[in-house]
Amino acid sequence: MLQIRGLRKQFHVAGKEIPILDIPEWHVGQGEKIAITGPSGSGKSTLLHLISGIMRPDEGDILIGENKLSGMSEALRDRFRGEHIGYILQDFHLIPSLTARENVEIALARNRNTGRGERLELINHWFERVGMLERRDHKPSQLSRGQQQRVAIIRALISGPTLVLADEPTGSLDWETADEIAELLLELCGSDRHTLLVVTHDLRMAERFPTCRHIHEINEIHRRVRKQGGLAI
Ligand code: ADP
Ligand code: MG
Repeated sequence: MLQIRGLRKQFHVAGKEIPILDIPEWHVGQGEKIAITGPSGSGKSTLLHLISGIMRPDEGDILIGENKLSGMSEALRDRFRGEHIGYILQDFHLIPSLTARENVEIALARNRNTGRGERLELINHWFERVGMLERRDHKPSQLSRGQQQRVAIIRALISGPTLVLADEPTGSLDWETADEIAELLLELCGSDRHTLLVVTHDLRMAERFPTCRHIHEINEIHRRVRKQGGLAI
């Protein structure tokens, strides 16, 4: 469902071009659940930014299903992301002035032409699934970090994305809560319909996934830089 070919990305920093990613070929099948590990600075977040179309590669193609991101305008990529991709971040990014339910509702309202009654019923169902029905009218500041991440997970999944991307989703949680969140993500994305890519440097979390890849297995920059005798990034 995800195909990457000849992907290259470099950043321009202080007058220098710094190569970050070089991925000749990488395929992810429909319904796969993959953890991508690697040290800080190894290009994990950049890879997710490229796959989600937030950022453009310098070279290469990314296909999600039949859809080639490089052939789309920025507006089309934004629409495609809204309809097909769920994104979960380390720091939740909930709107502080809205309740948990309202944070989910604005994400849902963008995507569905359903009546409000039906939307609220669906939202209640999801809060129940993550064990937070009683907390749905609380503001983010009244919730624990683990609970805030549950709300962010609902927000990412409620519209039924085919591809779910999570960037260090347990990075700011204690280990017990991190375990719960990893478990919940795998459970909620359990169907074959959901493809789940999680980047993390938390090996404990990665071990729970059916497939775990180190970013250096996918990204050849590391090998190339080492071969040239340079510093590995
Ligand atoms: P990771 O998520 O694995 O920690 P990132 O993808 O965030 O790594 O970053 C990879 C490298 O690219 C880092 O060295 C980082 O400093 C650099 N980088 C990331 N984004 C930018 C940017 N917008 N401009 C310049 N350099 C960047
Ligand atoms: Mg990162």
